[in-house]
Amino acid sequence: MKNIVLFGPPGAGKGTQADVLKDKYNLIHISTGDVFRYNIKNETDLGKLAKTYMDNGNLVPDEVTIEMLKTEVIKNQTANGFIFDGFPRTESQATALDLFLKEHNQTINGMVALEVPENLLVERLLNRGKTSGRPDDQDESKIRNRFNEYQTKTSIVKDYYQKQNKYFGVNGVGSIQDITNRLVQIFDKL
Ligand code: AMP
Repeated sequence: MKNIVLFGPPGAGKGTQADVLKDKYNLIHISTGDVFRYNIKNETDLGKLAKTYMDNGNLVPDEVTIEMLKTEVIKNQTANGFIFDGFPRTESQATALDLFLKEHNQTINGMVALEVPENLLVERLLNRGKTSGRPDDQDESKIRNRFNEYQTKTSIVKDYYQKQNKYFGVNGVGSIQDITNRLVQIFDKL
């Protein structure tokens, strides 16, 4: 199995790249943000809870997110592997994921991170907000709050994988195809 964490700040291009890579490597793409948005659209209890956090650009609490992630993995027991997009976003999520995979005799092969400067990210997110309909992409103060959450809670997840020699950084600036090519070079080795 190939289990890969696709990492990077909001707007780095994780979703776009995961869409291409999941087909190329026959992996299941789990985007925790997409699962939350699906639940919000369908007005489930999980959606109602997640919405209060997401609308302001705050992280959804760990217990809720971890349970949701486990459910998504269990739904796809026969998969060839997973691309985790937007998870783990805190150190507790990273340890919970390791523990959960270990219980299933699995492991994370690597974290592949898209590295993009912040000024470019804001521009990308505001542009996406024009068509995505996502409230958290349309307001610069919410975008700034998401970056703040990223800096204070998520960026340390990089250290978590670096300590295990599983961190691979990729330049996330350029055309979609160029960035895919860079990612493929890493994915092939994992
Ligand atoms: P994304 O689509 O990855 O940009 O996520 C959108 C929003 O969903 C985030 O700003 C959080 O509010 C929530 N979210 C997604 N993934 C997680 C996670 N792993 N932990 C906590 N909140 C999350």
